[in-house]
Amino acid sequence: MNTFENLEVWFVTGAQLLYGGDAVIAVDAHSNEMVAGLNAGGRLPVKVVYKGTANSSKEVESVFKAANNDSRCIGVITWMHTFSPAKMWIHGLQQLRKPLLHLHTQFNREIPWDTMDMDFMNLNQSAHGDREFGHICARMRVRRKVVVGYWQDEDTQRRIAVWMRVCAAWADAQDTLVLRFGDQMNNVAVTDGDKVEAEQRMGYHVDYCPVSELMEYHARVKDEEVDALVGEYFRLYDHDAALEDAGSAAYAKIWNSAKAELALRAILKDKGAKAFTTNFDDLGQTDGSHFDQIPGLASQRLMAEGYGFGAEGDWKSAALYRSVWVMNQGLPKGCSFLEDYTLNFDGKDSSILQAHMLEICPLIASGRPRLEVHFLGIGIRKSETARLVFTSKTGTGCTATVVDMGNRFRLIVNDVECIEPKPLPKLPVASALWKPMPDFETGAGAWILAGGTHHSCFSYDLTAEYWEDYAEIAGIEMVHINKETTLGGFRKELRMNEVYYMLNKALC
Ligand code: MN
Repeated sequence: MNTFENLEVWFVTGAQLLYGGDAVIAVDAHSNEMVAGLNAGGRLPVKVVYKGTANSSKEVESVFKAANNDSRCIGVITWMHTFSPAKMWIHGLQQLRKPLLHLHTQFNREIPWDTMDMDFMNLNQSAHGDREFGHICARMRVRRKVVVGYWQDEDTQRRIAVWMRVCAAWADAQDTLVLRFGDQMNNVAVTDGDKVEAEQRMGYHVDYCPVSELMEYHARVKDEEVDALVGEYFRLYDHDAALEDAGSAAYAKIWNSAKAELALRAILKDKGAKAFTTNFDDLGQTDGSHFDQIPGLASQRLMAEGYGFGAEGDWKSAALYRSVWVMNQGLPKGCSFLEDYTLNFDGKDSSILQAHMLEICPLIASGRPRLEVHFLGIGIRKSETARLVFTSKTGTGCTATVVDMGNRFRLIVNDVECIEPKPLPKLPVASALWKPMPDFETGAGAWILAGGTHHSCFSYDLTAEYWEDYAEIAGIEMVHINKETTLGGFRKELRMNEVYYMLNKALC
């Protein structure tokens, strides 16, 4: 199913009755044409629905209240065709709870030099109408995205499309349950945080689920279902022919992995969860139903299906990955949970190997993943373990994490470039190799200064603009490490933000 299919973004045109009913009729006709054009452009992932002109405080309030209460509506676009005195927007904006995009555009592209008269001027006033509206948003501290550009232009529509994808992820986050099988890895600080605040600020609800309950699902998985899933693995992934020998120990490991996947998917579906975490020290009791190995292959495949995932109890990464996956729908190169694994000092090409003991999403694979079974000597049950092995595509991307600073959440974003790795014959795990922008020393240095995790949520297709929109909607801090970053400037930004968030209690 298309994740965006049943969603809508509402388009509300600001006008007023000063210029008479004919003007409003013309505004309405222009707005209809623009909305039809936006939808026909093929660039917007979510349908735009025109909701008419708003000519008074009552009309604004009414349409914004309706937006709040309509679950299909994930955001509202406003545009002032004529001058729209902004006091009439106050009551509505006080109540609007959906993300807002203010589009500063104009129905006509160019000035009609030869024919323009005062009637035309009165009708086509977005040049100052949008400034009046911008003022009231600024005065009221309304969080919003401002997009400036001609409505038919590709870049204008691209920026609206970015915001729409973020709105879809935002709506999804308000209904996201993260299930934690096992707790946080003991003693780890950066992946922990305030779950109550996370739900208030970003929407994600985080619950604990005893592994014993997961094992009840595990015990109920039917052998025929497992056989069928193992068959699917062999069809989908490259593998040694010997793995198909049903009497072999390696086959048993793959079979048990498939059973773990079926158990996890069943409990996630049953509980309506969209994300989950695991902990390698909590795999069920050996005297009952239990996982014989870390369910890494299951996590890899469930991530590709859209389930958020965080290893070692990292619920913030699990939640954020789910949002990344939603934003990434239909985009070409994919996304994954990743971990800073080990460093490669190589002058200006210094890089960081991104991997995990198992759990990397195959959506970022450069080719067909390979199904392999190898010993994994970590966790409560050290064992031969099935996994998908691949290296990632090359190219630029963007990685993100959220950390809890105690008085606020900080979203840290880093532009990166995935480069060609060398073969790793003795490390059979999925991996990516990247250079953080602007260079290894500055990128990694800034990330560490900001308190960023070793886990992050990566995508080739998303850019910092997505994260700016996300942080604006959530009202959380965002810092972006990019080609322009200097450590001095970045430190200053962190210090200024500290003051800003201390003073601006509403955002803490
Ligand atoms: Mn980890």
